[in-house]
Amino acid sequence: MTWISRPLKIVACMLLAWQTQGRASALEAVPDRLVVLTFDDSVKSQFTVARPILKKYRFGATFYITESFAFRTNKRDYMTWEEIRQLHEDGFEIGNHTRDHNAVTVKSLGQLTSQLSAIDKACIEHGIPKTTTFAWPGNGIIRGGVARLQDYGFQFARRGGMPEYPRETGLGPVYEPGRDHPMLIPSAAIPRPGFTFEKFVSAVSKAKDGRIAVLQFHGVPEGEHPWVNTTRALDRRGRSALLDIVSHRVAARCTRADGS
Ligand SMILES: [Zn+2]
Repeated sequence: MTWISRPLKIVACMLLAWQTQGRASALEAVPDRLVVLTFDDSVKSQFTVARPILKKYRFGATFYITESFAFRTNKRDYMTWEEIRQLHEDGFEIGNHTRDHNAVTVKSLGQLTSQLSAIDKACIEHGIPKTTTFAWPGNGIIRGGVARLQDYGFQFARRGGMPEYPRETGLGPVYEPGRDHPMLIPSAAIPRPGFTFEKFVSAVSKAKDGRIAVLQFHGVPEGEHPWVNTTRALDRRGRSALLDIVSHRVAARCTRADGS
């Protein structure tokens, strides 16, 4: 059996059955080995390295865009809006990661709507539709932000792996439709240096029985933020986690592990 990867907004459509026909129907609607590949922070290598691989294997993905860090001046390490538009034209989802990547806190909550609409304005200016999903900057979540995101009109919002898993592990729970709040969808893996291939396999192996493994990547490789570098995390094997997914090596490992 092969792996399926869909953008988060497409998963939203698949789960419509949950709202209309109940949770059991939604779980039945989720195939095993469904992963959602997400790429944060507008990093250049997502366009130059990830995009061709994703296209080759016809994998969907969501790119969470921010204009923070050195986005405006450093076009060696960050995508241009033209490249982001190209991702949209390729069929990938463009998601909202706020303009300035500020953590959502009680203090910053008042600026959240303008932070979101700035990204949507830029999207529309570049021929990209208004975003429908969101990724919490820095994976920080607060209760007050949930209603704000729903009011803004998002279908889904993705968080990190905390509080269930310590940040250093790079792991998190798998997404369980009907149990997880749609504004608090967890990341099953956030590859970073020290993140092993075995961890990666354990995270995606849980994508079964109605559960979806949402993976959170940054640069592949990363320019400005080496602490979330995917390539370096898996240097020992000489290939990125992304390549491991699409080459189906993970599928082979999982098949042996679960006996299916
Ligand atoms: Zn980010």
